Amino acid sequence: VLAARGIHVSFGDLQVLRGVDVSVTRGECVMLLGESGSGKTTLSQCIAGLAREYTGTVALEGTSLASATRQRSNDERRRIQYVFQSPFSSLNPRKTVAQSIEVPLVRLTSLSRAQRRDRVAEMLDRVRLGRELANRLPDQLSGGERQRAAIARALVTTPDVLVCDEVTSALDVSVQATIVELLGELRRELGMAMLFVTHNIALAPEVADRVAVLRGGEIVEEGTVDDVLKSPSHSYTRELLANTP
Ligand code: ATP
Repeated sequence: VLAARGIHVSFGDLQVLRGVDVSVTRGECVMLLGESGSGKTTLSQCIAGLAREYTGTVALEGTSLASATRQRSNDERRRIQYVFQSPFSSLNPRKTVAQSIEVPLVRLTSLSRAQRRDRVAEMLDRVRLGRELANRLPDQLSGGERQRAAIARALVTTPDVLVCDEVTSALDVSVQATIVELLGELRRELGMAMLFVTHNIALAPEVADRVAVLRGGEIVEEGTVDDVLKSPSHSYTRELLANTP
């Protein structure tokens, strides 16, 4: 459903992405694994249309998208949604959680007010946030609740592709597990493709079907979770595995 081909990004002399190819099919989860500075946020933002310019192509079902978000149509934007490491990046501090979840429906769809309200209520149920929590401001929620609200905001437009950028990294380990489980459940129920961006290879068996390893702006290894974990072909992946408890 989504294919990025030959993505290059440079900031001045620094080449952050050097021709990256990555694709995700419907219902599939690909883990994009990389250490800090490998370029994974830059790549995921190119895909989601949140980055500045890039060269190369990002295509949704074979149709190439404009690199600048402003040039993507509302429907193209609706179809690829992004969850940030910090839920504060997508929740307005002065709006209730329910109001923030409605925002992409107002901006990107032509649903009526009643349809929007139903859609928000359905998403709140799916991420198991009750009415009382939904009427609070984001800073009145726990970290895990806030991340569930951000996930609801991303999924309320029923995207084809969900890009999750280090979405569990700022959470306690026990909360991480519930978010990973919830994302798996939502992916199966809603049938979307997922790009799960992380530095944590240990999450691969729970989260992903395939793993792509990004190092220094290049994919150095790609394969099924089983193949990559059991018989990694690149020395860098072996090193990552050796350093994982
Ligand atoms: P982290 O997990 O630490 O965020 P990352 O793998 O997501 O790391 P990126 O955020 O994609 O890495 O950044 C890759 C490289 O690009 C880093 O060296 C970073 O300093 C640089 N970089 C990112 N954004 C910019 C920018 N706007 N201007 C200049 N350099 C940038």
